Amino acid sequence: MAKRDYYDVLGVQKGANADEIKKGFRSKAKELHPDRNADKPDAEAQFKEANEAYDVLKDPEKKAAYDRFGHAAFEGGMGGGGGRPGGGFGGQQGDFGSAFSDVFDDLFGDFMGGQRGGGGGRRAARGSDLRYNLRVTLEDAFAGLQKTINVPTSVSCDSCDGSGAEGGSEPTTCPTCSGMGKVRAQQGFFTVERTCPTCSGMGQIIQNPCKVCSGAGRVEKDRSLSVNIPAGVETGTRIRLAGEGEAGMRGGPSGDLYIFIDVATHDLFERDGKNLFCRVPVSMSSAALGGSIEVPTIDGGRGRVQIPAGSQSGRQMRLRSKGMPALRGGGPGDMFIELAVETPVNLTSRQKELLREFEELSEENNPESSSFFSSVKSFWDSMKG
Ligand SMILES: [Zn+2]
Ligand SMILES: [Zn+2]
Repeated sequence: MAKRDYYDVLGVQKGANADEIKKGFRSKAKELHPDRNADKPDAEAQFKEANEAYDVLKDPEKKAAYDRFGHAAFEGGMGGGGGRPGGGFGGQQGDFGSAFSDVFDDLFGDFMGGQRGGGGGRRAARGSDLRYNLRVTLEDAFAGLQKTINVPTSVSCDSCDGSGAEGGSEPTTCPTCSGMGKVRAQQGFFTVERTCPTCSGMGQIIQNPCKVCSGAGRVEKDRSLSVNIPAGVETGTRIRLAGEGEAGMRGGPSGDLYIFIDVATHDLFERDGKNLFCRVPVSMSSAALGGSIEVPTIDGGRGRVQIPAGSQSGRQMRLRSKGMPALRGGGPGDMFIELAVETPVNLTSRQKELLREFEELSEENNPESSSFFSSVKSFWDSMKG
């Protein structure tokens, strides 16, 4: 039987434009939909015919060849330009499900973001995002740092330029799924969609896989990356390096690399957001008499704080702007110094003598405070007062 004219098959004028061709195909596809034509044995063949016609006419190159040479363009490997083995398009679709998936794509592809790159159906999978845990010191988090990290990842294969095909040969569109990567099949009332078994969802098959990467288009490799860690990072801060994740399959886009920051605990400083806290021991006499103490700061320098006379243990002093820098705008935090008044130990007999004398003087000076119970009482009195 002679092949029907492709324009006739789609019910459009000869030389119709892309929009008209698409419209024609859509209405044919709906009309010939297998769900509606269970009782018409011809429908399946017509459906395939429409699919074949559309496959040619939607592709400007193939359409031009068809307009010039008719069906002869696709016989004996002439023209076409599709790169499919064996020439010809019709009747090669493995099963009905695969033909349908092509239609399905054309009917709904526009609404689903048009993931297919044109008519070729190249379905190159995007590489995975990678996570890299990076532990930094509090000093590094304060100052920021440039760090070189080694990321075990996969990179595009040099040997085949990421295509997965050996020696400059091109991957070809999978005949089972027509490049969709999925096949649909009717099972009772349900239409199920599953990954194409021929190409494992890639939409393409490689006749002659690259020997270096076995056709994956990427190879495992440690990559060395220089990362800029900004000042002010905290545990849980994520730094995204776009496109530095795993390479895509067969030339697909790379994933992203996320660096998860973990700031190590510090011997001296505790952090709460932008503020830093530290406990500084002071002698009992300094706390009682007042004075000034020198404290280390996170920038590596030293700061001086005044201790008011009569300071109790736990009293907090603030050094303004000596905390952590803000990661996103705003000024730096403060540093809080909590006094830890130390009770003297290992006293000499002279020191003990002086302390006893001090005690006696204290009782004379303020007898009520000599016992624990009376100090509790005076505390409550002061609370009520
Ligand atoms: Zn390769
Ligand atoms: Zn396939």
